[in-house]
This record gives sequence, structure tokens and C-alpha cells, in this order.
Amino acid sequence: LRVAILPIGNELLDGRVVDTNSKFLGSELASLGIETTCILSVPDDLKSMLDSLRFAEKRANFIIVTGGLGPTSDDITREAVSEFIGRPLVMNNSLLEEIKDFFKRRQRAFNPINEKQALVPETATIIPNSWGTAPGFIVKKEGLTIAALPGVPAELKPMWEQTLKPFLSPTKKLFVKGFKTFNLPESVVAASIPELDGVTIGYRAQFPEITVKISGFDKDKVERAFDIAKSSVPRDSIFTEDIHKSLPDLFAHSKFTIAVAESCTGGLLGKLLTDLPGSSRYFLGGVIAYSNELKESLLGVTTLKEFGAVSRETAASMAKGVRGKADVGISITGIAGPDGGTPDKPVGTFYIGIDTNKGTETYHFFYPGLDRDRVRKIAAYEALNLLRKIVL
Ligand code: ATP
Ligand code: MG
Repeated sequence: LRVAILPIGNELLDGRVVDTNSKFLGSELASLGIETTCILSVPDDLKSMLDSLRFAEKRANFIIVTGGLGPTSDDITREAVSEFIGRPLVMNNSLLEEIKDFFKRRQRAFNPINEKQALVPETATIIPNSWGTAPGFIVKKEGLTIAALPGVPAELKPMWEQTLKPFLSPTKKLFVKGFKTFNLPESVVAASIPELDGVTIGYRAQFPEITVKISGFDKDKVERAFDIAKSSVPRDSIFTEDIHKSLPDLFAHSKFTIAVAESCTGGLLGKLLTDLPGSSRYFLGGVIAYSNELKESLLGVTTLKEFGAVSRETAASMAKGVRGKADVGISITGIAGPDGGTPDKPVGTFYIGIDTNKGTETYHFFYPGLDRDRVRKIAAYEALNLLRKIVL
């Protein structure tokens, strides 16, 4: 089964309304293991609609049209589908009664203009709409099926759930396995994983995490593909085999207590560590020491004159200074840019210090070419990545 989604309405093309229906349908279909081959936004215009149906027909054997089922003259989905499949529109009397009933229940006067909503292409199967006045319908044209649903998301969603989803659900179960890697470019991840038969491999980059998702109907093939995919990226770069978890989520069950000292990240590491409820069990707190003065007065740093604020020595001293009673003290100091870089320490340079009862370690990083936002984010994530190896 290959599905095309056609959201209808001028408001979707001129930016007045964000097309959430396609996003909803696309992800619902994906979760059933059904491929969406195109999403085509179409203005309220009969010719565009017919052209789009012809285009979609080449790429799919199931077309979902959303919107354009209203009673006004600009709603032309009915007319377009009827013309496309070569069947006239006919009045469905029981549908007309239902629509009149709907108005009665809402204590609104029935407007004759709404009669139009009881028109459906001959041979259509009705998709009931208990949430609004526009019913949906399903029609067939040779090997092609077209389902028309209203545009209002609050009507589309339950109609999908109650009628289309059960109709499209494969009898086979879709198996999904995957992992998340940190700090590998998407292209590197994709290039290192071979094409595998019988499974679909999807990559999704959400800086700085990359999700590799393997799905298919044959459980063994999915398992085998998963093992192959896993072994083709560096082991250490995989931080979770739960694709719904982000790096910060791993700390929910940390047994170690953590204190942070941040300079260039301005509190981002502390924010990430406290995103999940219950973080007070392991997160003791932190110091944002942006200025040299505060690095000295709050963290007892003594290395500034000799080595500078962005140095291994200062990172070590900040981590030691903040640890106190915590199991781990961790620090970040660096140059996020856009200014402040030197030939020695260009923008994108940062140091992370980690102090535990086993001693102090420091790590040097350099990420050229990233903007301020990304340098700060990657620095905080590198810190989390180092922490995961110690505390998890
Ligand atoms: P109704 O008869 O209930 O109005 P309809 O099929 O005529 O249904 P439209 O008139 O096309 O639906 O759209 C109604 C409203 O639904 C729009 O004003 C818009 O806010 C919303 N809408 C339409 N299409 C989408 C979409 N693809 N994504 C999100 N919202 C949408
Ligand atoms: Mg419309």
C-alpha cells in the first residue's frame, strides 16, 4: 500500500493555517508501516485538484484528501473527486437526515446551504462524522481508493481513528527497533550502515542526536538488520537503544550525585540535567561562573592568570571547586563565539573537567564552524556524554 495525502485549502498555501493534518496522517501511517509517497497541498480550485489527483494516482494506490468538504462554494472536494472517478454526485437522503439531526442536537437552525454536504459521488461509502457536519467518504476507481475527510483536525482525527485506521491497519504487525547516536554526522551514520533487504531504515537528525530506526514486518530480519546497523557505527557513540529517549533522559536513574560549574554554557547543562522530574535525587546544583571574578570567588579557581579561563587547568579547578559533597563535579569552559576566539583558542574550543574521588580528568574539544547556539549545545551534550560513562 502506498498512500498520497492531499490537504486542500488556500489557507494552507498562503500560510494562514499550518497543515497539521498531513503531519498527523503521515505519522499515523508510518506507525502502521505504511509508506506515504507524497504530500501535496492543493488550493481550492477544481483544476488544481484534478491535476493533483492525477499526480497522486501515479505515486499511490490510496489517496487521502483532507478539507474542502464544507458547505460553501469554495469547498470543491466532492465535485473534484466525482469528476475524477467519473461518477455523478447524488443526494444521500439518510445522510441529509443525519446532518439535519446534527443541527437539531446543537439547537441550530438547518441552513439549506448544508444540503450540499449530503451529496456524495455515486458508489461512495460514507465515513460518519459525529463531530461536525461534513461526512467523509471512500470511493474506488479501479485499483485506486480515495478517502475524503474534513479539514477540521478535531473531526479528522476521530474519523481516522474510528474508520480509516482499522480499514488500513495491516494484519501483520510492524516491528521497530532502533538506537540513538551522539556526535556522528547523519551522513556518516547513513553511509556506514548498509542497505538491508526487507527492512526500512530511517535516519532522523535532531542536533546533536541522530536516531536510526529499523522497521519491517519480519521480526528476524529486523533483529538481524538492527545488529548489523549497530555494529557498523562506533559502539561508544550509541547511547540508547530506546528511540524515545534523549541523552538527558538517561540520568533519570543515576545513582551518583552531580554538581556542575558552567561558564560558556550559561546553565544549559544544569537545565538538561533537571529536565526530567525527580532530578533532585542526583542533581545537587551548580554555579554559573561567567566572569573570572566569580570563577575565583565562588569556585576558588586560581589558574586564570597563568593558563586563562579557557584551559584544561581552569576546567579542572572549576570541577574540583564545585564538587563539594557530590560524587561528581563537572565543569565546562569554552568559547561559544561569535567573538572572543584567538589563534590558540578559536571559537568552538571548550574544555570539560570532571572531578571524582578517583581524581580529576580534563577533556579538550574543538567544533569549528558551529554558531554560538550549537557550540553551547554540543558542549552541554559532550558533558552529558562523559557523565553517562561515569555515572550510568
Ligand atoms: P467543515 O465543513 O467542518 O468546515 P471542511 O472539510 O470544509 O470541513 P475546510 O473548510 O477545508 O474543512 O477547513 C476547515 C478548517 O479546518 C480550516 O479553517 C482550518 O482551520 C482547518 N484545516 C483545514 N485543513 C487543515 C490542515 N490540513 N491542517 C490543519 N488544519 C486544517
Ligand atoms: Mg476549506
